[in-house]
Amino acid sequence: MTPPPHALVIPYPAQGHVIPLLELAHALVDRGFTVTFVNSEFNHHRVLAATTDTTKNGSAGLLDRIRLVAVPDGMEPGEDRNNLVRLTLLMAEHMAPRVEDLISRSHAGTEGADGGPITCMVADYNLGTWALDVARRTRIKSAAVWPASAAVLASLLSIPKLIQDNIIDSKDGSALTEDTFKLSPDMPIMRAAHLAWNCIGDHQGQEALFRYLIGGIRAVEKCDFILCNSFLGAEEATFAQFPKVIPIGPLLTGERRGKAVGHFWRPEDEACISWLNAQPTRSVVYVAFGSFTMFDTRQFQELALGLELCGRPFLWVVRPDLVHGDVHDYPQGFLDRVSASGRGMVVAWSPQQQVLAHPAVACFVSHCGWNSTMEGVRNRVPFLAWPYFADQFVNQVYICDVWKVGLRAQADESGVITKEYIATRVEELMSGASMRDRVEAMKKVALESLKEGGSSHDNFDMFVQAMKA
Ligand code: UDP
Repeated sequence: MTPPPHALVIPYPAQGHVIPLLELAHALVDRGFTVTFVNSEFNHHRVLAATTDTTKNGSAGLLDRIRLVAVPDGMEPGEDRNNLVRLTLLMAEHMAPRVEDLISRSHAGTEGADGGPITCMVADYNLGTWALDVARRTRIKSAAVWPASAAVLASLLSIPKLIQDNIIDSKDGSALTEDTFKLSPDMPIMRAAHLAWNCIGDHQGQEALFRYLIGGIRAVEKCDFILCNSFLGAEEATFAQFPKVIPIGPLLTGERRGKAVGHFWRPEDEACISWLNAQPTRSVVYVAFGSFTMFDTRQFQELALGLELCGRPFLWVVRPDLVHGDVHDYPQGFLDRVSASGRGMVVAWSPQQQVLAHPAVACFVSHCGWNSTMEGVRNRVPFLAWPYFADQFVNQVYICDVWKVGLRAQADESGVITKEYIATRVEELMSGASMRDRVEAMKKVALESLKEGGSSHDNFDMFVQAMKA
């Protein structure tokens, strides 16, 4: 008899990965799967802490649906987990044996192996080869999930060609040319210096990271599915060129009320929403830069002054570690002025999906993380596109040049995006009716793809059936 489907879902240990993979885990539970979700110990504790504070029933809402398991990531307790190169390399060594043991114990029916035998693995592509190798060794089906744009995955899968065409260096993937290029005529314009591996951290460990990514290409060639958190209408040319990559998005991240959605920080739900409720329709500038972006004090202050200069209500997420050195040096009197006028609100972390869905929100000053990009699109909010690192430069090209649902944040000769520039562009976004029409149309296409008969919905169905078989 076929055992009931039991999926092991493993995200890359970063906020922008845990959130979409946890949503995917919920979607599998909706389709009758038992799910065991493997976080690094460090993130497991953060997710639980944020969950206990945000759901009415403590963490029960999450725990009775999904079995949460923690494994060490190999880093010391106080080490900097924003050092993605080191984290990525250590993880492979430390997480793989623990995950393999978890699967083997579930197959042997050993005590503590709840949920029955694990029958398939759904692993973040960014984990590299080790997770899919474990799936092969333990003879379970496997799928890789790419939580970002298909175009960026296409750039990874095209590394051999980029080397052959002398666009990148074969040793460490660094840029050999400043010219732009396209992977196919209708795909977005790319720059070698903006390829994801060339924009992660300082260049320490670049070669090791690049080798790791090349290993990932071989691994996914052998897995049963490559799922992508995007939709056909957003990246038609890319999906046509890379048919093995299957769109199942946009995953409805952040929409499960009363269930934890994988936040690392506690969202200030009530404060944000009651403040938004008091603002006029389509008046608010929402400003958030995801979980990694960091500012220097000069740019941070310029942004604060820019928001004041806009003269519009604003909701600004200032994460505890947003500014280098963790010291938030606001311009003199800024916070007093904001609170006295009631025109702005600053929070440490927001319930972003709820915020973007709120009728008061008019535009989104965003770092163009892929989750934020999809969340902005599916809530019809135009962007001021202000990328920081990794895949965000390609996402900016989509937003500004391909979909035309946002404007670029452009630095001046001194490298600063000035307050005047911010205020002018926000004003343009507020009054740009054609941009609003385009994002509205895109929202419709995104939501259609998730309905029965829509491409993402049907792809997910097909994947679920294959994993159950
Ligand atoms: N997010 C949130 N509250 C915030 C800021 C971000 O809930 O104040 C969520 C956001 O909705 C998204 C995720 O955190 O789902 C960030 O992922 P993204 O890919 O946009 O950026 P990253 O953090 O990976 O840079």
